[in-house]
Amino acid sequence: MSCPDERSSVGRLTIDLAAVRANYRVIASRVAPSATGAVIKADAYGLGACIVAPELAREGCRDFFVAHLSEAHGLSDILPTDARIFVLNGLAPGEEACCAASGAIPVLNSLPQLRAWKALAAGGETALPAALQIDSGMSRLGLSEAEVETLINDPRLLAGLELRLVMSHLASGDEPGSPLNTDQLARFLALSSRLPPAPRSLANSGGAFLEPAYSLDLVRPGVALYGAAPHVGGQGLAAAVRLEARVIQLRETPAGAGVGYGHAYRSTQPMRLATVGIGYADGWPRQLSGRDIAAWFAGVRLPMLGRVSMDSIVVDIGALADGALKPGDPVELIGPHQSLDTVAAEAGTVAHDILTGLGRRLDRIYLGDQP
Ligand SMILES: *Cc1c(COP(=O)(O)O)cnc(C)c1O
Repeated sequence: MSCPDERSSVGRLTIDLAAVRANYRVIASRVAPSATGAVIKADAYGLGACIVAPELAREGCRDFFVAHLSEAHGLSDILPTDARIFVLNGLAPGEEACCAASGAIPVLNSLPQLRAWKALAAGGETALPAALQIDSGMSRLGLSEAEVETLINDPRLLAGLELRLVMSHLASGDEPGSPLNTDQLARFLALSSRLPPAPRSLANSGGAFLEPAYSLDLVRPGVALYGAAPHVGGQGLAAAVRLEARVIQLRETPAGAGVGYGHAYRSTQPMRLATVGIGYADGWPRQLSGRDIAAWFAGVRLPMLGRVSMDSIVVDIGALADGALKPGDPVELIGPHQSLDTVAAEAGTVAHDILTGLGRRLDRIYLGDQP
């Protein structure tokens, strides 16, 4: 017995690499002369870090950011030799030697992390590269103000380390006009200016679309590369992903039929429905249940009805001519008719959450790769 198609029948995520590259250029030209890095943690937000990162390197990107050391493995083999890979979450105790061997640069987030990395440097002949994160007001990662004071008062703590980057992270980069941004910028500049000179970085995607003062030496966009506008100022970005799923069954229902779990939708008239084979197990959020969201076919809006199941949703196909839609046909869920940002907003979350949640059952198809 042979299976008709090794690809999944769930659906496909089409990733437009030309759009990712174009988004990199939009950001890079906006923040120039600041440099533009790329955050490719969580497998480039689910798009595929091994495919996305070399495309960005072709545009001149040399600073790549992952969250965990394990995400850095294999990347240096496919990136230019002068590329840097930073590990944002820093190192867990015991990971130091492995990190040094991989060539990745740890973001040291505390004095204990700094000491452990320095202990390794003391055993070697050359200085070890390091990035330092300062907590400028998010209370998540990075050295506290008191730890930075300790460093300033005892420069020996940095001996044997080559400081490649001093960074911090904005809590409200997606909210232009938030006083948190100005506070964090001022605090970061004040603290970092008292450390040995090194390139400075504060801005994520949102920060890269704030005033130029936030760009400093290097910006670290993630989601904007993948086509989501970080806030209203984030104009000119191209959609980079398209999500389609397949129709698995059609049915006609009488007035009064309940649709899906809990009969969260109940029809008031006879209807024609399609069941589409994608659900929350594929990252189509259950929080979209009952929201103003649809599938699209041939430019026609097919409203989603009732709750999102684990492996399926139900849509109203009454707007289509009888017979226009067949089992096996793909319908659009994220694309030209319904943007990633719209889906995220209806699900009450951010585009980062939608992208990183899209599951392994979806085929990933790439367009626009360069020869
Ligand atoms: C994830 C992350 C980014 C990228 O954030 P986006 O909002 O996707 O641009 C930048 N810096 C740090 C420290 C991060 O953790």
